[in-house]
Amino acid sequence: MTDRYAVIGNPIEQSKSPLIHTAFAQVTGHDISYTKVLAPLDGFADTVDAFRAAGGRGMNVTAPFKLDACEYATDLAPSAQMAGAVNAMKFDGDRVFAENFDGVGLVRDMVHNLARPLKGQRVLLLGAGGATRGALLPLLAQQPAQVVLVNRTVAKAHELSALAQRHNPLQVQALGYEDLHDMAFDVVINATSASLTAQLPPLKAQVFAPGSLAYELAYGKGLTPFLKLAQQAGVTHLADGVGMLAEQAAEAFAWWRGVRPDTAAVIHQLTVPLV
Ligand code: NDP
Repeated sequence: MTDRYAVIGNPIEQSKSPLIHTAFAQVTGHDISYTKVLAPLDGFADTVDAFRAAGGRGMNVTAPFKLDACEYATDLAPSAQMAGAVNAMKFDGDRVFAENFDGVGLVRDMVHNLARPLKGQRVLLLGAGGATRGALLPLLAQQPAQVVLVNRTVAKAHELSALAQRHNPLQVQALGYEDLHDMAFDVVINATSASLTAQLPPLKAQVFAPGSLAYELAYGKGLTPFLKLAQQAGVTHLADGVGMLAEQAAEAFAWWRGVRPDTAAVIHQLTVPLV
């Protein structure tokens, strides 16, 4: 029997998840269907209830429902607790297991696909929104030498750094952009949403150390202002979030189906050149 999965959001047309999971099902030989579900803004729980009643096995969750899914879940994984957001659910009778695979997807893309081990690296993380909340613990687990978290609203960076400290002894230094002075980093991650509106966080080019990696979480946008700044600073290792997208999907697929699909073909298919 075909097992049913879906991604739920509003809007949902833009979602690449059906394409990704259908490709994963093909390469692993799993008999699943994966659709898009548009839920009314005030109708998350009712829509998920209906999907489960019709035999649905699991869902990905996208904006604006990642917080609603936290409330809906009966069993929140530590990743979802720390992120305060859910991006994957698994249904088992009355139980709703919930995870957030964004952070682990980001780390896997950097370490595995981009061959950039994070152990001992100096990491600068820009932004203190949902993506950063999900990324912090998986990043810290890689034992970088230093993690600096910078946000436009500095109080949010302090809040997240204190939260991370409760789970991991490694100090996360929270700063404002103007406090960076002449600090330089081996890995600079743009987890702000600035690129979605073609904006650049107030960042100086000297943050990129020689040989550094500039990683943009937004994907499919080509050379964003952040990546352009890095390129102008002489950075040759540039990446966007397409690999992260594919890797978080592979984590969800493995969680649901017990087999982890290879992501290379999907990443290749979705990649927009960084020009
Ligand atoms: P949020 O809305 O939760 O957070 C946005 C963050 O960006 C805040 O810290 C905000 O600062 C900061 N910000 C926004 N505009 C600017 C600006 N002009 N200058 C400096 N800082 C700015 O967004 P998310 O965390 O959910 O998403 C962040 C990015 O990650 C998006 O580009 C999103 O598309 C991408 N993403 C990619 C994924 C993938 O799989 N590749 C998965 C999830 C997200 P302040 O607090 O001061 O408002």
